[in-house]
Amino acid sequence: MTRVQAVVLNGFMTKETLTTQTARHWENDNGQAVCSAHAGNYLTTAVEQYPKRKKHVTPLGTWYEMPADEVAHMTETYGGACETCVFGKGY
Ligand SMILES: [Zn+2]
Repeated sequence: MTRVQAVVLNGFMTKETLTTQTARHWENDNGQAVCSAHAGNYLTTAVEQYPKRKKHVTPLGTWYEMPADEVAHMTETYGGACETCVFGKGY
């Protein structure tokens, strides 16, 4: 129980920190792209547990970290690389 609470707390702090830094972005097999702040609970928890991995397998799909230059290109072209940030889609 204590361990789970710690993971949730870390995830919350990370989300706040990332808003002022270059956020990591993730893309799944269906081409869905999300930033760390808009990653679901499964992916957020996986990234917290294994922050150095560039691939995470979750019950909602397999996510691959988007290269920084791709994120920069999409931000330049579309105003962002995360669909939720750009289009405001919810879950
Ligand atoms: Zn986003």
